[in-house]
Amino acid sequence: MPAAAAPAARTSLSAPLRVAVVGSGPAGFYAAAALLGDDELPVEVDMIERLPTPWGLVRLGVAPDHPKLKTVSRAFERIAERPGFRFLGNVEVGRDLAHEDLVELYDAVVYAVGAQTDRRLEIPGEDLPGSWSATEFVAWYNGHPDFQDVPFDLDAERAVVIGNGNVALDVARMLALTPEELAPTDTTDRAIDAISASPLRDIVVVGRRGPAQASFTNPELQELGELAGADVAVDPNELEGAEPEGTNAERNLNTLREFAAREPSGKPKTVRLRFFVSPTAIHGTDRVEAIELVRNRLEERDGRLVAVATDERETLECGLVFRSVGYRGVPLPGIPFDEARGTIRNDRGRVLGEEGAPAAGVYCAGWIKRGPTGIIGTNKKDATETVELLLEDVREGRLPAKGRSAAEVDALLADRGVRVVLYTGWTAIDERERTAGEKLGRPRVKLVSWDDLLEAAEDVAAAAG
Ligand code: NAP
Repeated sequence: MPAAAAPAARTSLSAPLRVAVVGSGPAGFYAAAALLGDDELPVEVDMIERLPTPWGLVRLGVAPDHPKLKTVSRAFERIAERPGFRFLGNVEVGRDLAHEDLVELYDAVVYAVGAQTDRRLEIPGEDLPGSWSATEFVAWYNGHPDFQDVPFDLDAERAVVIGNGNVALDVARMLALTPEELAPTDTTDRAIDAISASPLRDIVVVGRRGPAQASFTNPELQELGELAGADVAVDPNELEGAEPEGTNAERNLNTLREFAAREPSGKPKTVRLRFFVSPTAIHGTDRVEAIELVRNRLEERDGRLVAVATDERETLECGLVFRSVGYRGVPLPGIPFDEARGTIRNDRGRVLGEEGAPAAGVYCAGWIKRGPTGIIGTNKKDATETVELLLEDVREGRLPAKGRSAAEVDALLADRGVRVVLYTGWTAIDERERTAGEKLGRPRVKLVSWDDLLEAAEDVAAAAG
């Protein structure tokens, strides 16, 4: 790498502020929008992404039967058109570029890498074949290239989904969709075939606390009552005495009461919502055969109702278990991490060093900043807060201009042999996927292997000369 120019105070606003945004999900795009929307300061944003494709969980997390939620990608496309924006896909921080490289090459770095793993249950049998994390399953049916070889075998009559969040409902619903419901979506063909061929009849969603404490949102709960191929079942006894706090919990309870009053209509599958039970072990010889559940009661501790196990246990035969108990951030080398929260240690987005003082020029946004909560739009406010602090640091002289250029970044990546996918490479992938989808009445048919993605991106790069 060429020697770094000596940092100089930012005396002129004519030299653009150069920012690396690491991660291209909603938080990354909203951070880029806030940076590129500053009227006074010229800014250049390099969005660095380990995949050849942008949009994070909007492409690879949002359920394929929720196309409306995915339309937020149009806003991301407009952000990518702004002058000063570059997408550097297939570039992994920690492999192709170190944090130290970013600090040398950019005036500021914003980490928006999301929460890349799942929380575990820490119970025996959790790693048996047939016991999966929701993150793996979601990544698989959405075509994430790292998860296409996970050997999902849906040859089971009963699946148990642990957790009461929106991801648990996504998993339960996806398992319950009919081939006709899956056909117009961008679910991968392999997942459509596996779900359609599965003999699943019973999908049990298990909450450790009560119906009033469930964290799923009401429209998502209501959807379970509208499935073409599955009835929804709730035990009215488990709704008794529930004291909902807040509008969402009240609506959920009304919906659950309506579900509990329904008679089964004879649809091939049933989605069953159970409350006040926690898994204590997953049993099986070569694969999942049953799950052991313990009945809970609620107890108030430090102002929060927590689940406390009773002596009442049951064993439920099942061939599949999906744990959906929340995502968790993964530490990045060289970046201070708060283990308890699973986030980068930060104050409103300013990354804090070991001594608790802000680490100059290093910021974070989104789930890696606040934890895995909120909806897509929550990241707009979150990323804007981070960028406002970043710009305040610029204006108050805390971020001296480093005087580096985009060409230096390109030279370093070329030197390291990285097959960078630029935005034009992504639009080539996008076009190919949409064209394949059009013929079939689907939004797109995703390319799901690294080779196919990189080849599609490079085809255009070659055509463009
Ligand atoms: P979440 O909303 O935090 O739900 C996690 C669930 O796991 C909670 O019900 C929690 O119960 C339970 N849990 C945690 N530890 C457990 C344990 N050891 N045993 C049993 N249960 C346990 O997380 P999420 O579902 O992963 O969703 C992440 C975020 O993405 C949320 O903000 C969600 O709303 C959002 N999202 C939105 C959509 C949408 O808008 N359609 C779709 C997907 C995701 P306790 O409450 O008892 O801790």
